[in-house]
Amino acid sequence: MKRVAILGVTGSIGRQAVDVISRYPEDFSISLVSAHSSRDVLLELARRFRVPVVCYTGGDPIDPSELGYPCRVFCGADALILGAREGEYDVLLNSVVGLGALEPTLVAMEKGARIALANKEMLVSAGDLVMKRVKSLGAELIPVDSEHSAIFQCLQAGRHEEIDRLVLTSSGGAFRDVPVEQLDRLDPAKALAHPNWRMGKKITLDCATMVNKGFEVIEAKHLFDVPLDHIETVIHRESVVHSMVRFCDGSTIAQLSQPDMRLPIQYALTYPNRVPSPVSSPMPPYSLTFDEVDLRRYPCFGVMLEAARKGGLYPAVALAADEVLARAFSERRIRYSEIAPLMERVLARFDVGGDYTLADVRYINSEAEKYTQSVVKR
Ligand code: NDP
Ligand code: MG
Repeated sequence: MKRVAILGVTGSIGRQAVDVISRYPEDFSISLVSAHSSRDVLLELARRFRVPVVCYTGGDPIDPSELGYPCRVFCGADALILGAREGEYDVLLNSVVGLGALEPTLVAMEKGARIALANKEMLVSAGDLVMKRVKSLGAELIPVDSEHSAIFQCLQAGRHEEIDRLVLTSSGGAFRDVPVEQLDRLDPAKALAHPNWRMGKKITLDCATMVNKGFEVIEAKHLFDVPLDHIETVIHRESVVHSMVRFCDGSTIAQLSQPDMRLPIQYALTYPNRVPSPVSSPMPPYSLTFDEVDLRRYPCFGVMLEAARKGGLYPAVALAADEVLARAFSERRIRYSEIAPLMERVLARFDVGGDYTLADVRYINSEAEKYTQSVVKR
């Protein structure tokens, strides 16, 4: 029986993880859960699975008596780190949004737990530091983001030194068919209509601008230790091929499935084994298309790649800037065509190319957010 800690159990990934686990009660138990604001959902899930450790980072503290069974409850800003230290688990799923679970995930690595990583912000902002820690501890980090899960699966077919290219696929998001000259006149709410995936609001918006794919290129570089010029991105409208690896002999291995996050979540829990899932296999005849990314349509993707090339904390700056710019765009305070130049302007403000510490990550995140807010106001 594997004990699973789910950080961010009330979110889109967290709830799908609960769904996956509840299909295999003989193999998995939930030994820790956390939430930030969804108090009632957290209490309901904790009671349903009699979870022994419950962490609640925001709002009114929870009294253990509210749960009605013996358990430990940690509340407030340090709840996740205390839970990660005190809890007992074999796998920790980080499905929190933002950087709130960065330190707790490092604690879990030190304890020897497998990390199933859905969270993007951690690798985008602090990938060098996190991967150094993974190597020095010999930690097991299994990606949950669908593209990276796909690459991880494809890599079972060859060795690291045999990789020629990683090929990330992108659906193109909600704006893929809008004529470029009309993008500025579009209702930002349209950005939330993802053609293929059902996800949270922020990530869906980041798919429309392809900032998300920029994040994923950075995640891939760190996770698989492949230089940026060996990572390609293609538009693949069908979202059936979740990514590919081209090997040095000319073979390309791809992972195909219906777009459903329960599959990569499950694989990160069961790896190296596979078990039946509710996700059906795409049935032939397939119609699969692969197109180049048009940077006139997706200028933010170009800016993200530039941040990735500069390295250091530039991706952390871009992530913080995107947080503010995505919100400003969705609230109609800036136009689509203003997002990329504003992001470039924020990147130009900072000189953060070298090594960094965890404290630097936090500091730059907050400074870049403040600076972006000031340029948006102007
Ligand atoms: P959601 O917004 O749906 O859920 C986020 C979870 O994090 C919730 O449980 C939320 O608690 C908790 N949370 C929010 N703020 C904080 C905080 N400050 N401290 C601690 N916990 C917090 O996000 P998703 O599930 O969509 O995404 C989670 C991560 O996975 C993100 O990094 C995302 O980019 C990545 N990802 C998501 C995919 C998807 O399909 N959704 C696909 C690939 C990657 P509460 O609800 O109580 O506020
Ligand atoms: Mg993805």
